[in-house]
Amino acid sequence: MKKMLSILMLTALIVVLAACGANSSSNGTNNNDKAANNTGSTNTADSTESTNAGATTEMGKIGISMPTKSSERWVGDGANMKKEFEALGYTVDLQYAEDVIENQVSQIENMITKGVKVLVIAAIDGESLTDVLQKAADADIKVIAYDRLIKNTEHVSYYATFDNFKVGVLQASYLEEKLGLKDGKGPFNIELFAGSPDDNNAYFFFDGAMSVLQPYIDNGKLVVKSGQTKMEQVATLRWDGATAQSRMDNLLSANYASDTVSAVLSPYDGISIGIISSLKGVGYGTADKPMPIITGQDAELASVKSIIAGEQTSTIFKDTRELAKVAVGMAQAVIEGKDAEVNDTKTYDNGVKVVPSFLLEPVSVDSSNYKQTLVDSGYYSEDELK
Ligand code: BGC
Repeated sequence: MKKMLSILMLTALIVVLAACGANSSSNGTNNNDKAANNTGSTNTADSTESTNAGATTEMGKIGISMPTKSSERWVGDGANMKKEFEALGYTVDLQYAEDVIENQVSQIENMITKGVKVLVIAAIDGESLTDVLQKAADADIKVIAYDRLIKNTEHVSYYATFDNFKVGVLQASYLEEKLGLKDGKGPFNIELFAGSPDDNNAYFFFDGAMSVLQPYIDNGKLVVKSGQTKMEQVATLRWDGATAQSRMDNLLSANYASDTVSAVLSPYDGISIGIISSLKGVGYGTADKPMPIITGQDAELASVKSIIAGEQTSTIFKDTRELAKVAVGMAQAVIEGKDAEVNDTKTYDNGVKVVPSFLLEPVSVDSSNYKQTLVDSGYYSEDELK
């Protein structure tokens, strides 16, 4: 009789647990494999929190702090990491700060209070997290810098990113090739854009690009009519497309009333979209006045479509699925007290220490290879690109 009773109770328990599991799995939102179609740029901080339904043991909570949902790539990054962590049995607190530094700091403070085991952070401003990461260290929480270096703190264990200098080299080499600069063609007019001055990556991209372009500027085969060639002159705060658009408006009206711009170095797809709007506004994109060659980065959906439509010329594909895997591996290593796999221990000095890093390879994409790189790899479906 006693045995029967315990079997019955056990069965009841299993049923209850299964029901809980079903509930919590439906809480897990937005389990996209890649950059989601969610480009809705809201101005409010957003968050998702999930419990892991499938796991048999409670592995603990991971805090993921992302900069903004207004750029598709971060939506994909967050979703990919959430999925990977959950598959390992962790619960995930995923927060987006909508590019407001104070939001990001308070979201991280909350994660610390909730007792996360590890923080994975893509910083809005790489220099504004020193104090909050001291709090994390005091609570014995380790930190992984995701894609963007976190500066001025010793409390960052690892850095998962791409070869950022190479991103810039690829962007500029694309311009070099399409303009025929190596064959001695030119001179061509070019204008330069860089990313956000509070993002360490922006300097790597720009320096990489200038390592290719500077010799042509020096020998007169590339002409920057605006004269703006320094990072502080060409940077775009918060990578904002509207800011880039108004700078391009100014460049065009001040320098190109009776001349044509043949190439634009753009560091990021969202900036390229702003630049293209500006160019269209003064008649570029027609048979008489073709679009200049315009680079980009992130292979965001709108920009890949723009490449297919012949407006933007190229982008840089950085497979966020792979980056998520690297970051998750690093987080697991620090939780287990092991060393994570790295392939660079020299490049990323954050002002306090050189952060051990794993650099993934960026890939240049244009209309000739987007199918192989983006569709065949399953990053986008043919349908999404229509
Ligand atoms: C990332 C780029 C991205 C840019 C704007 C950078 O830190 O590395 O992939 O285009 O931020 O979001």
